[in-house]
Amino acid sequence: MTAAPRGVAILGSTGSIGTTALRVLQRHPERFSVAALTAFSNSALLEEQVRQFHPSFVGIVQNGASTHETWACGAECLVKAVEHPDVSIVLNAVVGAAGLDATLAAVRAGKRVALANKETLVMAGPLVGEACRAGGGEIVPVDSEHSAILQCLAGRRPEDVRRLVLTASGGPFRAWPRERLQTATVADALQHPTWRMGRKITVDSATLANKALEVIEAHFLFGLSYDQIEVVVHPQSVVHSFVEMVDGSVLAQLGVPSMELPVLYALTHPERVHDTGVPPFDPVELSPLTFERVRSADFPALRLGIEAGRRGGAAPAVFNAANEQAVALFLDGRIRFGDIPRGIEAALAALGDADGRTRDALLAADERARRFVREMFAC
Ligand code: NAD
Ligand code: MG
Repeated sequence: MTAAPRGVAILGSTGSIGTTALRVLQRHPERFSVAALTAFSNSALLEEQVRQFHPSFVGIVQNGASTHETWACGAECLVKAVEHPDVSIVLNAVVGAAGLDATLAAVRAGKRVALANKETLVMAGPLVGEACRAGGGEIVPVDSEHSAILQCLAGRRPEDVRRLVLTASGGPFRAWPRERLQTATVADALQHPTWRMGRKITVDSATLANKALEVIEAHFLFGLSYDQIEVVVHPQSVVHSFVEMVDGSVLAQLGVPSMELPVLYALTHPERVHDTGVPPFDPVELSPLTFERVRSADFPALRLGIEAGRRGGAAPAVFNAANEQAVALFLDGRIRFGDIPRGIEAALAALGDADGRTRDALLAADERARRFVREMFAC
């Protein structure tokens, strides 16, 4: 290959996806260079990464977390990172709504966003779409389910697709009785059976709010209606999702539960690379693969999120913000597991019709939803 390596910005480089991405990039120095790194507050790990990868730009969000004079500080460092001239691909691996401005800035600047930060697309799908059209940038999903769907849809005509079926591991509480769920502890919720991830998405996987975010994400990424997107529980996390065609033929993408491949594919799509280090696929070793119906009545966050998606406007942003706030309170030991969907439902009932046409309106709805949840639980 003769082209120069492409500069990648990793937003959230100290997190689960961020560190996975650095491992992936390290394996392909002929294709990629690390052009920018940002983190929230973990300056020790960020410093180690800077020593190893020599990025042109380094940013840390929390003021006072670092004394490096050359590092950018504060929330604006994310947008500065994506706008840096050495950056051509942005891996947005920030958790939560905090990633919104960086996604918008990157696609407006005509760059590819490899998007792990699904909350961005959920809260502002139409605005992200508009910014892509205006600036010529694109969103390529990192989420394993959406990476699977992207690969299954390649070369298909939209009118030939009947529906998408997203797989869900079911999380740690898949088989728990409903009454026990109410009082599940933080330690219980952080025991994910198949994936090692950041704390917020791990709790989202336990409530199934993560799957709701993913249904909305799929709606915006692939332009299918909510009636065409379904969820099935698949505890082994080997089939990453299905696409059913109008003639009843069903396509799926499979792989062991590791984020390395979806991260790499989001950077190289539609190209594929050799030497990924992924172990050979052995269907017998991975057997049996099983599927179950979702227990929607026991995991109300899934239904609430899909309803918010259908409602549109600011409702998905309210769903996302209420969930982020409730999860933070749960992780802090201030509310119970069963309070998470209660907080989301009440916030949507009170604020779901808020204006969502602009970035500022969405951020205002986000802020109000967080305050609503804090006040509801007197926190
Ligand atoms: P994590 O908590 O491990 O890492 C989050 C990263 O974001 C950290 O580097 C942190 O410094 C940074 N960050 C946190 N708050 C920030 C803020 N306010 N401003 C700027 N930076 C901030 O989370 P993760 O598991 O790596 O998940 C990151 C994103 O990827 C989430 O949106 C998640 O839903 C998505 N995702 C993760 C996985 C996974 O396997 N971990 C899979 C699919 C999608
Ligand atoms: Mg996923």
